[in-house]
Amino acid sequence: DDAGGRAHFVFVPLMAQGHLIPAVDTALLLATHGAVCTIAATPATAARVRPTVDSARRSGLQIRLVEFPLDPAAGLPDGADNMDNVPPEHVGSYFAAVARLREPIESYLRAHAPFPTCVVSDFIHPWTTVLAANLGVPRLSFFSMCAFCLLCQHNVERFGAYEGVADDNEPVVVPGLEKRVVVTRSQAPGFFRESPAWKEFADYIERARAEADGVIVNTFEEMEPEYVAGYAAARKMKVWAVGPVSLYHQQRAATLLAARGCATAAIEAGECLRWLDGKDPGSVVYVSFGSIAYAGAKQAVELGLGLEASGHPFIWVLRNADEYDAAAREFLGELEARVAGRGLLVRGWAPQLLILSHAAVGGFVTHCGWNSTLEAVAAGLPVVTWPHFTDQFLNEKMAVEVLGIGVSVGVKERLIYQAVEKEIVVGRGVVEAAVRSVMGGGEEAEERRRRARALAAKARVAMQKGGSSHGNLLDLVERFKAV
Ligand code: UDP
Repeated sequence: DDAGGRAHFVFVPLMAQGHLIPAVDTALLLATHGAVCTIAATPATAARVRPTVDSARRSGLQIRLVEFPLDPAAGLPDGADNMDNVPPEHVGSYFAAVARLREPIESYLRAHAPFPTCVVSDFIHPWTTVLAANLGVPRLSFFSMCAFCLLCQHNVERFGAYEGVADDNEPVVVPGLEKRVVVTRSQAPGFFRESPAWKEFADYIERARAEADGVIVNTFEEMEPEYVAGYAAARKMKVWAVGPVSLYHQQRAATLLAARGCATAAIEAGECLRWLDGKDPGSVVYVSFGSIAYAGAKQAVELGLGLEASGHPFIWVLRNADEYDAAAREFLGELEARVAGRGLLVRGWAPQLLILSHAAVGGFVTHCGWNSTLEAVAAGLPVVTWPHFTDQFLNEKMAVEVLGIGVSVGVKERLIYQAVEKEIVVGRGVVEAAVRSVMGGGEEAEERRRRARALAAKARVAMQKGGSSHGNLLDLVERFKAV
């Protein structure tokens, strides 16, 4: 490989879709701009992104995906080398086993030229501080979160905003912001801080965050200039906004069709496209809760009836339909028959980017995972917001209150916490109203659509030559080049 003088970024992503996918996209973008990239991943994780990485290699990018199996002594169940497959009681030993990858990763990097120039770590892997120090290179933290969310979390912690709150649902104004943003501890808990068992790990993560040499964020400056600048100032750190990283795929039909983040999707891309081709522009609503959140059986029935009543064509992604009780499964079968041709149920992984980029799609019912939210922005789509946990409530505020492109279904507290599902069911009427409001023709809906389209245009400009994210990518490649 001819890598003389080039930057060589080593990515250590968290092995979960919402972290892995944007990290790989960022590596692909850096490689497009002339860097060498190595992605370290466990075998099950690597399998998910192998098709995308291989296709990039064939097109000449210097990107490699290296597999590091977890130590069998960790006693993890079979296949649990990916976060999505780790049972809750094994999460601790999973993170411990991942941390022990430091040594094999370090040995590999020493033995395989070119020598790295920078480690890019998911914020959740504090041990990469030691990896970078041993290699004698800087370390950047990687976040697929918006700067608004990062700054809110930072300020809540820094100013102790939750001290003295009566309970998880007491509203608190986020300190230190110009805009009035109200959250509760249930909505914005601060990662790992809820449980005393995780306090040590949370402190370790926070130290590693503070010690990073900079931050890469999947956002773009024009969308939230005050928050990107505000977060950099609060952290006293350089922040590189390099998104929306999903736009990497927009010019590459091959990787778009390969269903990013999955070796096999639950629906063939061609079938999905044919279905969408038969629909009017902007008429279809796409419904998905991402890779971790899901609708319980009762919720699925209400959601299905709400979608049916809305009258709009829909693609509804269900990750866990096979776990439903007989009644819910029967309901889904009947619903499918009733809405045949108008409603498409995808039971498993959907080619989301492909769907969102299709002209027939006019709105997105989302759990507000940051990747999904930003993919909606990049596609110019208004959203129905339905947050479940972690950063999703803050992303909802970003979509509804900051960007003005969302309508909330009104969920006020965490729906799933440590695998326990709360019995908060959003009724069919609420679903129907929210979908009608986002997909409808009134002045407010038009305004929302205009704002979403304007943001998408700005996102494209940011990623093009001369744009802010493009410039930040080039700056990374330049600043961390080999000397
Ligand atoms: N995704 C997909 N197909 C699916 C579900 C999810 O392609 O059926 C992708 C989606 O495009 C996004 C990522 O998986 O890039 C999910 O990340 P997000 O932050 O939205 O949610 P999380 O899964 O982390 O909760």
